[in-house]
Amino acid sequence: MDYTLEEKEAFMREALKEAEIALEHDEIPIGCVIVKDGKIIGRGHNAREELQRAVMHAEIMAIENANLSEESWRLLDCTLFVTIEPCVMCSGAIGLARIPNVVYGAKNQKFGAAGSLYDILTDERLNHRVDVETGILESDCAGIMQDFFRNRRKK
Ligand SMILES: [Zn+2]
Repeated sequence: MDYTLEEKEAFMREALKEAEIALEHDEIPIGCVIVKDGKIIGRGHNAREELQRAVMHAEIMAIENANLSEESWRLLDCTLFVTIEPCVMCSGAIGLARIPNVVYGAKNQKFGAAGSLYDILTDERLNHRVDVETGILESDCAGIMQDFFRNRRKK
């Protein structure tokens, strides 16, 4: 993936906008965009509460939208930007969609499957391997989560 740091931060800011949408629905604020040739082809945010769908994580919504706009299940030459490390399900879906590059903001020590609990995206036993980069706008991506859980504890 040949995006400059500035470009990566700009795409991660778009993923953060999606996280803000989740926040408006009092939802764990995680957002995602999928980029191809410098253009966003899919956006998604966590919508478990809004849609009452157990699997509607940000990455799943963004993959569904990108599949629709590409009219293809294969998302070759794409980069997925997500604010928080993908979970087991989403890491599996990233492989199924053949997405070659993933950039995430902050780690998820409890549920992360892209380096924390598991490392599904780079597991050599699986036939699809992904280039993973972390730490883009990390403090913003982690901060919105920390604020959400802090406020929720107060309620
Ligand atoms: Zn997930």
